[in-house]
Amino acid sequence: MNAGRPLAFFDTHCHLQDGRFQPNLDAVIHRAHGAGVTHLVCCGTRPTDWGAVRNLAQTHSAVLLMLGLHPWYVHEAPSGWLEQLSTQAQARDIGIGECGLDFAIEQPDRALQESVFRAHVRLACALNLPLSIHCRRAWERLIAITREEGLPPVGAVVHAFSGSAEIARELQALGYYLAFGCSLTNPENHRAAKAVAAVAADRLLFETDAPDIPPYGSAKGTLNEPINIRLALKAAARVRNTEPSALAACVYLNSQRVFGGLLPKQGSAI
Ligand SMILES: [Zn+2]
Repeated sequence: MNAGRPLAFFDTHCHLQDGRFQPNLDAVIHRAHGAGVTHLVCCGTRPTDWGAVRNLAQTHSAVLLMLGLHPWYVHEAPSGWLEQLSTQAQARDIGIGECGLDFAIEQPDRALQESVFRAHVRLACALNLPLSIHCRRAWERLIAITREEGLPPVGAVVHAFSGSAEIARELQALGYYLAFGCSLTNPENHRAAKAVAAVAADRLLFETDAPDIPPYGSAKGTLNEPINIRLALKAAARVRNTEPSALAACVYLNSQRVFGGLLPKQGSAI
C-alpha cells in the first residue's frame, strides 16, 4: 500500500457539521488531507443543519455540499422544507441527500418516509444531481420506488450499504452505486464482506459516515473521522483479493464521476 504514488481518497458521505466535531474540526479536516483524502462529501440531514453544512463548504474547498431530509427526521421538518431544498438545488451546487427509508427504527411512519423520499428522488432526477440514500430494512420499497421514479443519470448511491450480496446485485442492476465504510473492518461482519465482494469495481464507493461507525476495535465513544476511509479501502481490497492501490484509483474515478459536478468551480482542495 505504500509503494508508488500516495493514494487519493474521496469520502463520499460524512457529517462534518455534527456538533461532536466542533472543537477539533479543523484538525479533523487537516488530518484527512494529510492522509490523501482530497474531498469530503458532507451531507445535511434536516433544515436546521443545512446552514452549517453550507458554511463548511464555503470555508473548505474540499467539502462538497449535499442537503436532504433524513428519514429519522421526517416528522420534525417545517412546512416549506421541500421548497427550500428545491430553491437551493436550482443553483446546482448541491447534491441531494441524505434521504431515504429506515424501517428499522421504532414505529417508522412508512407512508411519510416514502413520500419524503420520493420528493428527493424527483428533485434529483429533474435537475440531474447526485443522490445519497440511507436504507435499512426497506429494500423492497427502495427497489419498487426506484422502478417507478428512476434515478438521476449522474449517479445515485446507497450509502453505508448493509444489505446482502443478492440485494447489492439487484441494486447495481438498477443503476445504483454502493458505498461501504468502516463496518468492513469488523472481521465478524461476513455479510458486508460478501456484499463488497459482489459489487462491480465501477459501482463501488467508500465513505466514513463520520462521526458515526468508527473502525472495529475503537474505544467506546471514539468519533469516526474521514482519515479512516483508508481502513475501509484496505479491508475491501483484502476481501476482493486486489491491490489497494488499484482499487483506490478505480474508486476515486467512480467518486469523481458521481460527485465531480459539486467541486468548486475554481481553486484547489483544502
Ligand atoms: Zn449519514
